[in-house]
Amino acid sequence: MSENPLIAPTAVTVELTKQTAINLIGYDHRAMSRYFSELGEKPFRASQLLKWIHQQGVYDYASMTNLSKALRGKLASQTTLDLPEIIQDQVSADGTRKWLLRLADGNSIETVFIPEDKRGTLCVSSQVGCGLNCSFCATAQQGYNRNLEAHEIIGQLRLANQLLSTPDNDRPVTNVVMMGMGEPLLNYDNVVQAMQLMQDDFAYGLSKRRVTLSTSGLLPEMLRLSDECPVSLAVSLHAPDDKLRDELVPINRKYPIAELMEACREYLKGIPHQRITFEYVMLDGINDSDDQARTLARLLRDVPCKINLIPFNPFDGTGYGRSSMKRINRFRDILMERGIITVTRRTRGDEIDAACGQLAGKFTDRTRRSIRMKPPGNVKL
Ligand code: SAH
Repeated sequence: MSENPLIAPTAVTVELTKQTAINLIGYDHRAMSRYFSELGEKPFRASQLLKWIHQQGVYDYASMTNLSKALRGKLASQTTLDLPEIIQDQVSADGTRKWLLRLADGNSIETVFIPEDKRGTLCVSSQVGCGLNCSFCATAQQGYNRNLEAHEIIGQLRLANQLLSTPDNDRPVTNVVMMGMGEPLLNYDNVVQAMQLMQDDFAYGLSKRRVTLSTSGLLPEMLRLSDECPVSLAVSLHAPDDKLRDELVPINRKYPIAELMEACREYLKGIPHQRITFEYVMLDGINDSDDQARTLARLLRDVPCKINLIPFNPFDGTGYGRSSMKRINRFRDILMERGIITVTRRTRGDEIDAACGQLAGKFTDRTRRSIRMKPPGNVKL
């Protein structure tokens, strides 16, 4: 800001201030309370602001009438409430909806909404790209760019609720799965901050059963999560033995299966009576034999769990194929006969590349403005 209040700040100063300003969209209750106490304000201001942003979808301080004018002025000069920009919005025949979002630095990410009878699940990204290099995943092909900020993670939920809300339902997203682009546990602090907001009654009020984090198995972070933010856990297993898992999920070389199982049992101590969900992508001729099903059942014998079989979703350049439905059913039956709850995940939104492992943030080319969506309703872009 210019030191002389009579001189209007130049465009450059405004730009600089905006870039360095704090984006309060990503602040959880604790961070927000700390921020207000630094301003000499009462802690309940945090609850008020969280409600404005996350429940009312108001991003303009001037409209926040229960805050004093002086406080609104201070907030406006120090902070922003910016959401990612929607640059593409696709709906598939089964109702699955995929948004391509552009971040302030020009990177793009994808978010997917999957409507079901009684619930609506949002699949949220945690990183731009991914560095884990799982051999069957499209996101791995694009490499790793950076972690998402907490405001970019929770911003995906805010936008989805806003875009999908109807007069009789202002919170259509009932479940969140951290299963979009990236490995959430490699972005621990920002992901946890966003998941705190998801569970906060002054924000989205989702129970921990309705928030699921999917990981390829980073053991130290799994244990930390069990202490600090024990949401439902999904583990990308994909193979019943180390030799194959080393190949499919290379992080296995660092954290092999036996240690992973131990960590899963440990995790469950933080969420009694719950189960780990093991994800298992069905790759034709690679991990889908009867023998592998039996080995898998033995491996999981003493971990309270269920298995999600995911039919492989192909993408350009992959050498893998999807197991036949007959094979998937046989694999499931072997597991079920051994007492393991097994569900085959329905493939959703594959014709718009919105299915598991197909997210890749394709349109990073900034010249393609013709595809940009007009912002619907009161969405601030
Ligand atoms: N990095 C996290 C979350 C992202 S992937 C993890 O590994 O769990 C979400 C799920 O989709 C994972 O189980 C992942 O292994 C699976 N997946 C990745 N590529 C896939 C593909 N091409 N077809 C089907 N599932 C895939």
